[in-house]
Parts: sequence; structure tokens; C-alpha cells
Amino acid sequence: MRSAPFLSVVVPCFNEEQVLSATHPRLVAALAGTCPFEVIYVDDGSRDGTWEVLADLQQTDDRVRALRLSRNFGHQIAATAGLDAATGDAVVLIDADLQDPPEVIPAMVQRWREGYDVAYGRRLARDGESVFKLGTASAFYRIFNAVASIEAPLDTGDFRLLDRKVVDALGSMREGHRFLRGMVSWLGFRQIAVPYHRAARAAGHTHYPLRRMLRLAADGILSFSTLPLRLATFAGALACLAGMGGLLASAAMRIAGGAWPSATAAVLIAMAMMGGLQLLCLGIAGEYLGRIYVESCRRPLYALAERRGVAVDRAGRTPQPHLYRAG
Ligand code: UDP
Ligand code: MG
Repeated sequence: MRSAPFLSVVVPCFNEEQVLSATHPRLVAALAGTCPFEVIYVDDGSRDGTWEVLADLQQTDDRVRALRLSRNFGHQIAATAGLDAATGDAVVLIDADLQDPPEVIPAMVQRWREGYDVAYGRRLARDGESVFKLGTASAFYRIFNAVASIEAPLDTGDFRLLDRKVVDALGSMREGHRFLRGMVSWLGFRQIAVPYHRAARAAGHTHYPLRRMLRLAADGILSFSTLPLRLATFAGALACLAGMGGLLASAAMRIAGGAWPSATAAVLIAMAMMGGLQLLCLGIAGEYLGRIYVESCRRPLYALAERRGVAVDRAGRTPQPHLYRAG
């Protein structure tokens, strides 16, 4: 079935002119001897000479494809544009800055040949990154797994190989706030980790300052968890219960022959009950909002891993359920 596989490598680039001339030769050298391939560079609205470098590369190497987005859409969207354009039987997603060593790709291809559908790079060590970035990244993966409805592998970025059926299934998920690694986990399929050592950036500087990291983290958690909404329900129920407890306690005290509680205590009890009730109602509205969010993502209901004795679509690929797609 995979006698002559073809590989696509997708490289999102934002202001990477300094590093691209080093990236391409290293990619090509690493891929030599694996299988025929194409490299799809996506210029994500760079403001430096990235596009000129890519256009030059495309002139000199016919395995290079170059896409230029109309403005900076962010890494996750740039990667999606590359995945949409990829024609390979498998697609590798890799950063342009050589932090993900291209030399790891053959190990991913090997796993794919063994029958795995997703081979994701797991970072064993990271050079050249601040203690703060390491700490926050590590905390994020752990919080994500604690609150999200799916389990994402720890210490794993977007550097990974995806089989064609995963790429097709991912292509049918058109949600705007994209958290690709979570979406791939959501899809399932046979996944395996490929450990590697994350290097320091070859040149240039990170485009993920704290603000963008927080946004990505929020996209990840909000896309796969309605827990934040549920917090209102919990808090409301708690306050309501406390108020009711106070009411019952004062009634019991009065029955036992004591006095009614002071005016202050009565006001506090009433406030806890009313405030709690309001939060509870907000939480219920939130539950519906959560459902509306999930529905509005228009994710496919499921993805197929295999099919026997069932018709094949025209491209000979697994038909994906587009039941809930717009348009
Ligand atoms: N990138 C992109 N668009 C952006 C930001 C980053 O395409 O708006 C690309 C960037 O060129 C690189 C990859 O995404 O290939 C990862 O970005 P970066 O190295 O800045 O992030 P870090 O590795 O520091 O998390
Ligand atoms: Mg980087």
C-alpha cells in the first residue's frame, strides 16, 4: 500500500530570512534517502525578506513550493494553509528556525512505515530557552490535561508527522481558534512519540512572546474544555449552600430558645443565597453557551481509521464525514 510514499514537509515562516538559507539545505540533507518529498514553505505575512528568499529557493529547487499569506495570521493558521496545500501520503509539520531538528524526520517516517498514523516529537531537553518559558510550557501541558476533555501528550509541540488520513480529517475541522496539537489528539488514530532534543533557535528571535503564548494556551484550553464555564456553577452552588446552611443554623438556634441572628448576619445569609442563585443561573446559561461553542466548531462527528467493503471516494481516500460542515 505504501510502496512509493511521497512526503510533504510544511514549514510556516514568519520573519525568518536569517535562518531559511540554513534551514533548507539541512532539511534536504536530512530527507535524502527517506522518500521523495516536497517542501511547502508558508510565508505568514513576513515583513522582512522571507518571501524573496522563498521565491529564490523555489526557482532553484523544484521540490520547493512557496505560499504567501496576505498578512500575518499566526503560526497555527499558517501551518493549516500548508497542510491544505500538501499532497503527500504523509505530512511533516516543522518550525523554520531549526529548533526542531530535521534529522528527527527519518525516525518519524520509520514509525509511519511501521503503521503509526501520527508520530509526534516529544521534547526531552530544550536548549536556549529561558527558565520562565520552560516552566510555563510545562505547567501549561499539565493544566491542559487536567481540565481538557481530551488528553494531549506532554511536552509536545507541533513538530510531527501526520498520515494522509489524519491530514484529511484535520482538514475537515475548520474552527477559527486553532490548537492543532489538541485537534490531532482529539482525532485519535494510532499515535506514537518520537523523543528528541530541542535545539536553540539557529538565528532570529522567537515570535511567541508571553502575550502570544497566553493566547495559544487560552485557545487550547477553551477549545477543549468547558470547565471555566462550569466554575460559575460550582461557585454559585457553593455560595447558595453556605447561605442555606446559615439560614438553617439560625432557625435551629431560634427553635432551641436563642435569639434571631443579628441584622448583619441576616443580610449576609440573604446575599450568599441570592448571589449564589444568580451565579448558578449564569452557570446554567454557560452550559448552553458551551454547547453552542462546541456545535459552532462544526467538527466532524468522527474520523475513520479504516474501511473494509465500503465504497471509496473518487480520490481513493477515506471519505471524511462532512455532515456538519458549513456551506
Ligand atoms: N510563525 C509563523 N507565524 C507567526 C509566528 C511564528 O508562521 O505569527 C512560525 C515561525 O516562523 C516558526 C514557528 O512558527 O517557524 C515557531 O515560531 P517561533 O520559533 O517564533 O516560536 P517558539 O519556537 O519560540 O515557540
Ligand atoms: Mg522557535
